[in-house]
Amino acid sequence: MRRLLIAGNWKMNTDLREAIQLATALKRQLAEAEDVDLAVFPPAPFLADVCEVLQDTAIEVGGQNLYHEPKGAFTGEVSAAMLVSVGCKRVLVGHSERRQYFGETDASCNQKLRAAIAAGLRPILCVGEVLEERKAGRQEEVVKTQVLGGLEGFSVEDMGAVTVAYEPVWAIGTGETATPEQANSMHGFIRGLLAERFGVDVAQTTRILYGGSMKPENSKALASEPDIDGGLIGGASLVAEKFAAIAKG
Ligand code: PEP
Repeated sequence: MRRLLIAGNWKMNTDLREAIQLATALKRQLAEAEDVDLAVFPPAPFLADVCEVLQDTAIEVGGQNLYHEPKGAFTGEVSAAMLVSVGCKRVLVGHSERRQYFGETDASCNQKLRAAIAAGLRPILCVGEVLEERKAGRQEEVVKTQVLGGLEGFSVEDMGAVTVAYEPVWAIGTGETATPEQANSMHGFIRGLLAERFGVDVAQTTRILYGGSMKPENSKALASEPDIDGGLIGGASLVAEKFAAIAKG
């Protein structure tokens, strides 16, 4: 049985004071949420502070991105070891905004995922089609390329650290959500890919999150679908009450 994971991607929002306030409110409101796994992904400059607020809680902290090299002359980048050193347990890889604005590819996601796992982080690989691709009926082809490209060369053991997030790009920040049936169908497709590539055990144990305008009003219906194992939440994760409501089901 897969436990639900509810994860909040704060994106490029909050200043230091707001990040600490939000983390403190989540700590208070989620103290008793024992039936789900929880994670937040604050902006890089606030990771250490948020880790400090959330230490000794069940809410894990992760980076929104990383660079695959361990260190060196890569101005502006953050390594996996740096994330670990401030207390991060997780990291997002290949969010659609990184693919769209920062040129991330399946190959660069693959390098990032490898670096994250080697450093002991548990990455969330984000995949999803854009509207034109869905309109053309190409969503499964697109997601298949992203999943298999991102996980190229991975072992069954590596997969123990990986979570996948299906985030249809047309549903991110738009208020438009995939229906539970649409999302579950894609999650089933992804699980089938994992089964073919890594075997049934990996397919059955890997969590596949849904992301795209998830909010308290629709989270229950989405999370009760059999192949949806939680959510990656953007906008609603910036409001402690909303994120807590989603997490508490
Ligand atoms: C996201 O950015 O991962 C996301 C799902 O955003 P939103 O919830 O705002 O659609």
